[in-house]
Amino acid sequence: MQAVLRAACRAAADLLFPRNCVHCAGPVETGSYQYLCPACTRALQFCEPPACKTCGYPYFGSVIAPRECPHCAELEPVFDKGKTLFLAKGPGRSLLHALKYHQGFYILKDLTRMLKETPHFKEFLSGAILVPVPLHPTKLRERGFNQSEHLAHTLLQNSDARAVEPLLLRSEFTHSQTHLDRKDRLQNVKNAFALSATANLMNDTYYILVDDVFTTGSTLNACARTLRTAGVTHLRAVAIGHG
Ligand SMILES: [Zn+2]
Ligand SMILES: [Zn+2]
Repeated sequence: MQAVLRAACRAAADLLFPRNCVHCAGPVETGSYQYLCPACTRALQFCEPPACKTCGYPYFGSVIAPRECPHCAELEPVFDKGKTLFLAKGPGRSLLHALKYHQGFYILKDLTRMLKETPHFKEFLSGAILVPVPLHPTKLRERGFNQSEHLAHTLLQNSDARAVEPLLLRSEFTHSQTHLDRKDRLQNVKNAFALSATANLMNDTYYILVDDVFTTGSTLNACARTLRTAGVTHLRAVAIGHG
């Protein structure tokens, strides 16, 4: 009865306040997602395999021989493997921006749905402890929340991952990486992270770093280096967007 009532209330609310697409701002009346219209849903590109084993970028077209991924050719990854869920351009970028810059926690509902539709991503998380990339306390105060922590909890709720553990601290304030090139990004975050004083690492467990976007991989790599130095053996990385 309650479910029927809830559905009726939602239908009434949708009539009064139709939901808008986070990308094109058009009304969302039908389709798989609540905050992407059908046209923007079609434009969203998932990072389906075959893909780069470090950053998850899909190899479009037929794969004849293993190719080097242009995004991580110079990365020298410190983690074993990585995956991304969708390309962070167009609708994918708008979804992540809504969360990060406009407190759009509602997009996490659509993320839940996306995880149901991408079993390869869900399976990647099985049995792991998820470690969100931390924000510096100053940034955390400004923004009020850490988007990677919210994303990690959504991943936990929709997979067989074991837990979310905030094992890392951002010890140095780093300026936005948006306008930096690859080399400067590496330098910018090199010593930015430290292990939390309460961290209790287990040797037989595997850990997965979680970030919102994989751009050059320099942030995830700096986090990975801190965990490796602390003795973590099995280490992977995921980001929701690639771009
Ligand atoms: Zn749209
Ligand atoms: Zn790659």
